[in-house]
Amino acid sequence: MHPDSPTPTERSRTSPTAGAGDRRARLVELARAATGFMPDDEGEALLAAALRAGEAFPDATFVEIGAWCGKSTVYLGAAAEATGAVLFSLDHHHGSEENQAGWEHHDPTLVDPASGRIDTLPRWRRTVMGADLERSVVGLVGDSPVVSSRWTTPLALCFIDGGHGEEPAWADFRGWSPHVAEGAWLAIHDVFPDPADGGRPPYDLWCHALDSGAFVEDGETGSLRILRRVGR
Ligand code: SAH
Ligand code: MG
Repeated sequence: MHPDSPTPTERSRTSPTAGAGDRRARLVELARAATGFMPDDEGEALLAAALRAGEAFPDATFVEIGAWCGKSTVYLGAAAEATGAVLFSLDHHHGSEENQAGWEHHDPTLVDPASGRIDTLPRWRRTVMGADLERSVVGLVGDSPVVSSRWTTPLALCFIDGGHGEEPAWADFRGWSPHVAEGAWLAIHDVFPDPADGGRPPYDLWCHALDSGAFVEDGETGSLRILRRVGR
């Protein structure tokens, strides 16, 4: 930020609602332009759920599993910034199975020539820095089950969008859903009730979460499902 530019508080003092609204609109614009796998309407539904979570829990902690180049990160980061929450955006940044060479969602421009492996971390960083979200968003670089095995902070919102295969998807659910606080939110991406539209695991997680009685539905937009914890 330029040293002479108003702080967020000063900005909202001179123009009570316009400042925050302008900032949110700008972040939505940046999220839409970012590389990734999140349709515009689903991104805005994710942002809306995260705003509810950030408003419901003081000093809220959000975790997203599956950051890729930072698209969903900016939607969630916008809500974190607006509510004083902190978003931990987790990814090993080597891509999922379906992102590897020869698979449907491969992007050769994301391969690091030195290692020959996908490395989305520089792009993720550019996206988050470009959105000026570094005070609200923390990158966690590592394997999701390793991180969840040491995690202890209760979550106001957890967004599962990591590996979509059977094993990684269930590992994310088992490792992260217990950290979702009572009354807090769990969002799952790429839930396709019709097998013709996409893979089973995210849909199976969603069904399991509802069947367990621990979560109830709190909205759906495209393949995004929002759940809220009502019990253990
Ligand atoms: N939310 C993103 C898309 C995520 S794609 C968007 O809005 O565009 C899925 C991501 O999950 C990939 O970046 C992949 O590297 C990550 N991932 C897959 N398995 C993982 C694991 N075990 N640990 C950490 N990240 C993982
Ligand atoms: Mg997804």
